[in-house]
Amino acid sequence: MDDRLQTACKWVEQSRRIVALTGAGISTESGIPDFRGPQGLWTQNPKAEKLSDIRFYMADPEVRKLAWQHRVAHPAWKAKPNPGHLALVSLEQSGRLHALVTQNIDGLHQAAGNSPQKVVEVHGTMHEVVCMRCDWRGPMQETLDRVRAGEEDPACTSCGGILKSATISFGQALIAEVIDRALQAAEEADLLLAIGTSLNVYPVANAVPLAKSAGARVVIVNAEPTVMDPMADAVLRGSIGEVLPRLVQGRRTNRISTA
Ligand SMILES: [Zn+2]
Repeated sequence: MDDRLQTACKWVEQSRRIVALTGAGISTESGIPDFRGPQGLWTQNPKAEKLSDIRFYMADPEVRKLAWQHRVAHPAWKAKPNPGHLALVSLEQSGRLHALVTQNIDGLHQAAGNSPQKVVEVHGTMHEVVCMRCDWRGPMQETLDRVRAGEEDPACTSCGGILKSATISFGQALIAEVIDRALQAAEEADLLLAIGTSLNVYPVANAVPLAKSAGARVVIVNAEPTVMDPMADAVLRGSIGEVLPRLVQGRRTNRISTA
């Protein structure tokens, strides 16, 4: 591990246009469960998946009521960025982070201190709500206040339409400009770091072969094997909160005071 880590460290030092692609694995260490992973809520309880399926959500007020209760109680509201997130802030501060593409909806990269302009949220954000009829958007907490005050399925105040968190649900199309921006950034990278993602959600997983074929090095940091490990120049296993600070800053986590 240490030899591979040292080699990958050198690549990080030498690179000037690094693209990080992050998935649920970086947020589990902040206490946010991985809904789709092997131990995930949805994997163990397929019924829960209905809450995030746009067809059930639009058709069934009971599904929406339950979804709002889950939003109110979501662990992300209390979650704090961990050393993995902070390592990516250091990378941006060093001037070498080209883009931070994330599959996560929790906003922890911005909370850690990455600039919003660098973060590409391919699956949207849970910090905003969107009206499914008129496209009105607003802050999630204001709508959650309405739920806490007793509205079980709050409607859009402009048009009465159905509100939903501004995330991409199952059965819902990705936003073309956002995914295009993510994949273009991958093609412009000289180093792609795939972090905490099993790389089996498309099209964002295509960032890896796109970066590779454009000449970038690829480093995968994940607790479990991924389908794209054979394509990587280095695969680093272990806790992201431990590996990433060492990879990006060339030092051990026990020296990071913010941890
Ligand atoms: Zn509306």
